[in-house]
Amino acid sequence: MRDTELYAALLKLHHPWRVREVKLDLAAERVDVWLEHAEGVKWTCPECSKAAPVYDHADEREWRHLDTCDCQTFLHARLPRVNCPDHGIRQIRPAWANPGSQFTFRFEVLLIKTLKERRYRNLAPDRNELG
Ligand SMILES: [Zn+2]
Repeated sequence: MRDTELYAALLKLHHPWRVREVKLDLAAERVDVWLEHAEGVKWTCPECSKAAPVYDHADEREWRHLDTCDCQTFLHARLPRVNCPDHGIRQIRPAWANPGSQFTFRFEVLLIKTLKERRYRNLAPDRNELG
């Protein structure tokens, strides 16, 4: 299995998205994964969900994802922009993150879970205080 196929499977990517490149930097303990989409795909306007062809692509963005074996992992992609007849040029919503977020859904879930656990621990009475 190639690294691009491995990451496509791990990320649960669906058509039209696929992994173009995976780069491992062991010294930096970092994995970077570049996503791309198939050609000729019609996307939907984020405002009205009407299908529209690609107008162009936004600049490359980066999303923090779950670690890969203790290596910080980042996804990169240039999101397509569509030209909706009703709403004009709009950027599509990525399948892996909320619009405008710097984190993937799965990383956000981990963050929320970690913060909830930490909050619960902080609220629990300290055994030493109980005497
Ligand atoms: Zn629209």
